[in-house]
Amino acid sequence: MKKLLSLLLAVSMLLTMTFVLASCGGDESESASESASESDSESASESTSESESEAEDIATNGTLKMVTNAYFAPYEYFEGNEIVGIDVDIAKAVAAKLGYKLEVESINFDSLITTVNSGAADFAMAGMTVTDERKLEVDFTLSYATGCQMLVVTKNSSLSSLDDLVAYPADADGNYITEGNTATKVGVQLGTTGALYAEWDGYQVVPYTTANDAIIALKNGDVDCVMIDSAPAQNFVDNNEDLRMIDGEEAYIVEEYAACVKKGNTELLNKLNGAIAELIADGTIEAIIEQYIPAESK
Ligand code: GLN
Repeated sequence: MKKLLSLLLAVSMLLTMTFVLASCGGDESESASESASESDSESASESTSESESEAEDIATNGTLKMVTNAYFAPYEYFEGNEIVGIDVDIAKAVAAKLGYKLEVESINFDSLITTVNSGAADFAMAGMTVTDERKLEVDFTLSYATGCQMLVVTKNSSLSSLDDLVAYPADADGNYITEGNTATKVGVQLGTTGALYAEWDGYQVVPYTTANDAIIALKNGDVDCVMIDSAPAQNFVDNNEDLRMIDGEEAYIVEEYAACVKKGNTELLNKLNGAIAELIADGTIEAIIEQYIPAESK
């Protein structure tokens, strides 16, 4: 944890919103988010004003195309063939406000940024955490929700708190010696912040394409725990009676979620931000989140 906390400045947290789940409210996570909260809104707005020359063709045929990874309930998941969830409802409200129809496609999480930058989709919305690294590649909208990383284990796991996780030994320079099976095996989704933190903290990182795959691996005993955002973690625990969260109140880190557009697509970014700001101000976004994550279960 120490190493993670010292690296927190690499994670952007636009604390414009306060939908922090109570289960994310451990002391560490609060101080972490405070320490990282300044200066980011500035750099975000700087990066949005850069290249207006590169305006994209927005909304071909009056349709905005969103890409997501629909294995991340309650933010996005399949109901039959349809993709539903918090992000989809917010995106629909945004599109309606802007006078567009919305098309949603599910792809791998680690392909979202390249797909948006290729122009194959107008924006990505996927419970995606704003980070400084990602800000170099895409432009993020205003943040519309907050999540945090949690650890899911099987009910009979011997892991009961973060302190029970074992990191690889470090050499004199502080680099982890990642040999053998000495560190706790943490299942993660490829390309997520959970994957990054697990690596920073020196655990044995086992990447899976989707959160579902990581949870199946956990149930099969292939990994010791799964690091995943709080809302899907809660969802998996609610739907699998053999799973629990490590120390239900202890968050690994608090993060801000935002949609992203192709780097430099200021025209679309401004439109999305205008709509999101209005939907925050009139309580629509809060009501959508409440509908999927009722206050009493937070
Ligand atoms: N919030 C995490 C991230 O941005 C995970 C998102 C997801 O898996 N959909 O990396």
